[in-house]
Amino acid sequence: MLGPVILAASRSDRMRRLVSAAPVTKPVVERFIAGETVDDVVPVVKHLADRGLEVSLDVVGEDITTPEQSTAARDAYLRLIDHLEGLGLGERAEMSVKLTLFGQALPGGHELALANVRPVVEAAARIGTTVTLDAEDHTTLDSMFAIHEELRKDFPQTGCVIQAYLFRTEADARRLAANGSRVRIVKGAYKETASVAYQDKAEIDKAYVRILKILMEGEGYPMIGSHDPRLIAITQELARRVGRKLDDYEFQMLYGIRGEEQTRLAAEGHRVRVYTAYGTDWYGYFMRRLAEKPANLRFFARSMITK
Ligand code: FAD
Repeated sequence: MLGPVILAASRSDRMRRLVSAAPVTKPVVERFIAGETVDDVVPVVKHLADRGLEVSLDVVGEDITTPEQSTAARDAYLRLIDHLEGLGLGERAEMSVKLTLFGQALPGGHELALANVRPVVEAAARIGTTVTLDAEDHTTLDSMFAIHEELRKDFPQTGCVIQAYLFRTEADARRLAANGSRVRIVKGAYKETASVAYQDKAEIDKAYVRILKILMEGEGYPMIGSHDPRLIAITQELARRVGRKLDDYEFQMLYGIRGEEQTRLAAEGHRVRVYTAYGTDWYGYFMRRLAEKPANLRFFARSMITK
């Protein structure tokens, strides 16, 4: 019940100002956001790498309003890549990108987002790694998939994300599995209506399993973005059944969620990538994490009351 309300608040400027300014927010935010600057995030990447974990780094931000913000975001990723080069982790440290941060929702946004993301993908390739395009709300996806296809002509390792809650996703999964893409499958974190998406948790989980099967049986590289123990077990079973080796797919989880499970899977020999978000514009990302688990909201509310 609470999830949709929090997701609606994640698009409200008034709530953004209120929540972002509250000093008590900080310790709760720090559970999910690995710092504000690239200097904050580099030690986190090293620490995760020491635990046998890989990362996908996300400079938080979305829904920008000017082209200047989009080029500033591009430059933030280019600075990040300069820092990553020094760590020498190659593909163990990749980037995740939200195309709305690169200007996709502005007038002429498709071309602007492509122009901004291309140099990031080029720079990532230069240091032996790659970029995955996150999936945002359903109105952005045709443009995201077209940009993904365009980038893959020169950089076939470029990945993208598909969301199990959308009705369209099985067809997207078939296309991407056949053309050998790196694909992250997630349940979906945005507020979507019943005209485009399953609303019921059990229906979403069933769709996830159908899509997982398509990806695991396909030609691409599946990236299983979930903390759900059932889906993790089903992935392992499917991998055995279709003969995928441990490095033919990977698990992905979010920074701050189920850390012990991340380490356990890595110790079993699985590739585990931790989606690690950092930056100052954390509001939308943070609110989606609250919406996923009402207990997070209670923790947040308690810290507001006790300070
Ligand atoms: P759930 O059923 O939601 O959770 C299973 C269990 O995991 C819960 O019982 C709980 O123990 C734990 N858990 C899950 N979420 C939380 C939380 N916030 N706080 C504390 N515990 C939690 N969504 C998009 O729409 N687009 C994307 O590009 C995208 N990228 C993602 C990348 C990664 C690596 C991951 C892991 C998720 C991403 N998501 C994205 C979010 C995703 O859509 C889900 O909202 C999120 O993963 C929760 O779903 P779940 O599969 O973990 O299952």
